[in-house]
Amino acid sequence: MAQITLSNLAHSYGSNGLHEEDFALKAMNHVWQDGGSYALLGPSGCGKTTLLNIISGLVTPSQGRVLFDDIDVTHVPTEKRNIAQVFQFPVVYDTLTVRENLAFPLKNRGLTASAIDARVVLIAEMIGLMATLDTQARGLTPDAKQKISLGRGLVRESVNAILFDEPLTVIDPLLKWELRAQLKALHRQFGHTMIYVTHDQTEALTFAEQVVMLHEGRVVQMGTPEALFETPEHTFVGHFIGSPGMNLLDAEIADNHALIAGYSVPLGARYATLAGRTQIGIRPEYIEFSADKGLPVQIQRIDDVGHRRIVRAEAAGCAIAVSLAEGTALDATMTHVQFVPEKINVYADDWRVQGKVV
Ligand code: ATP
Repeated sequence: MAQITLSNLAHSYGSNGLHEEDFALKAMNHVWQDGGSYALLGPSGCGKTTLLNIISGLVTPSQGRVLFDDIDVTHVPTEKRNIAQVFQFPVVYDTLTVRENLAFPLKNRGLTASAIDARVVLIAEMIGLMATLDTQARGLTPDAKQKISLGRGLVRESVNAILFDEPLTVIDPLLKWELRAQLKALHRQFGHTMIYVTHDQTEALTFAEQVVMLHEGRVVQMGTPEALFETPEHTFVGHFIGSPGMNLLDAEIADNHALIAGYSVPLGARYATLAGRTQIGIRPEYIEFSADKGLPVQIQRIDDVGHRRIVRAEAAGCAIAVSLAEGTALDATMTHVQFVPEKINVYADDWRVQGKVV
């Protein structure tokens, strides 16, 4: 296992790369801890695969260095990086059995046959392949084949890192939950450095200790799932994470109050005078209805989504979403909304501003 350092790393697929917009990946500096689990999260085209491919050695960055512990691997080919990779679609040998497929990465590595078998059985048990261990891969379902790919990625104990590129795409939705939980358990048990690419926030937030959120080739936040939810560093993170995402309202910030369409909204901290476009961000979960306090609101629609009720409304001319617990009744007295002051984030030109809590 290894600590991974990305030093002044950037990548442009074009030959010039003179302007910032030419870079698929904008300059970044990060140290990813040995044994950590990281999810690279973001929409299509934000640079997740480019970053993963630079770490695996499939792409050589046009700028900066990649270190595994203290060793510079920027120009070291993939096969010499001692990493395991699991891709979106199964990579299995159809004519071999499940057992032989899982054993394959361990062959020629000096392990005894009994050590190989013990490791194969351990992995097969954890990802639910015991029943088909001696079945040929050819006749198995796509789900089972992708489980073999996962198993092959996990079977070697002494890899620097395991890289997953949207590995659950072909997996049946119900099985996804199960496999995600098993991957997390495997991480806890074996302590490999794991990097997991996905555009699915649920997948990222349930799997990883640290989520690396990418937006237009830039890492806009790296933090725990809780930090991404509670204190999004960029409005994009607020909008992308959550269901529905954070409400963003244009506001004038005056010390410990925000002014929205002439209404004063108390904030949980004090702020200096801010330049640029200023907004407040409040999660739908932290809005409460009131009969007479806060911003006047007109309810437009209610969506029942399983365990929550999502109220779509207009408050002081802004569209907002409010998330209520299942079964919460709405009545005609709910004419205003209040925001929990400590849960309000303040943004200037899309970046979060740290207030002074008094
Ligand atoms: P997806 O989820 O769709 O795979 P992604 O977040 O993984 O997207 P990348 O595949 O890393 O994003 O792409 C980042 C940017 O780099 C995109 O604008 C893409 O068009 C561009 N790009 C990716 N690969 C190449 C390539 N081989 N040559 C030129 N441009 C590329």
